[in-house]
Amino acid sequence: MLFKELGLSEPILKSLEELKHLEPSEIQQQAIPVILAGKNLMAAAQTGTGKTAAFALPILQRMIDKPSETQRSNARALILTPTRELASQIADNINDYTKYLEVSVLTIYGGVKLETQAQKIKRGADIIVATPGRLLEHIQACNLNLSNVDFLVLDEADRMLDMGFIADIQKILQSVNKSSQK
Ligand code: AMP
Repeated sequence: MLFKELGLSEPILKSLEELKHLEPSEIQQQAIPVILAGKNLMAAAQTGTGKTAAFALPILQRMIDKPSETQRSNARALILTPTRELASQIADNINDYTKYLEVSVLTIYGGVKLETQAQKIKRGADIIVATPGRLLEHIQACNLNLSNVDFLVLDEADRMLDMGFIADIQKILQSVNKSSQK
C-alpha cells in the first residue's frame, strides 16, 4: 500500500517521500482512514511502529481540508503526552511532516520558565503538544484558549494514568471543545 492511497495530499506526501517513509506501517494503514473519516479512535501500538504519524498525518490532512475559521492563536489540535522528551519528539516529527504546510507547532512542558512559555503561547500555534501538569498551569493562568481544539490526542494514555495525571487531564478536558475528535 502507498500513502497516496490513504487519501493524503501532495504537501504531506512530498515530506513523507523526503523522509523515505515509503509505505504506511500497520498502525498507519489502520488508523489513518478512521481518523480521516472523523471518527474517534483508541489504538495500541508499540514504540517504533509509526504511531505518531498514524495520528499526526490524518490530523494534518483534516486541517488542510477544512481551514480554520478562527485566528491562528487558537490551537486546532492538542496532543497530551506524559514527558517532555516525548513532547519534543512528537513536535519534531510533526515539524518534519509540515515542511510544505503552513502549520505551526508549539510544545508546552515543565522545567522551563512559565513566563517565557506564556509569551510563546500568546503568539499562537495550530498544534500544541503538551505535558498535562504544565498545560493546566497555563490554563489556570488564562494564558491559552482551547475552545477551538478540533482534534485531541492522548498519547501514551496508559502511562499518563500510571503517572497520576488523571485529575489534570480531566480538568484540561473541561477547557477543550466537547465535540472535538478524540
Ligand atoms: P514512532 O513509533 O511514532 O515513535 O515512530 C518511530 C520512527 O519511525 C520515527 O522516527 C518515524 O519517523 C519513523 N516512521 C514512521 N512512519 C514510518 C513509515 N511509514 N516508514 C518509515 N519510517 C516511519
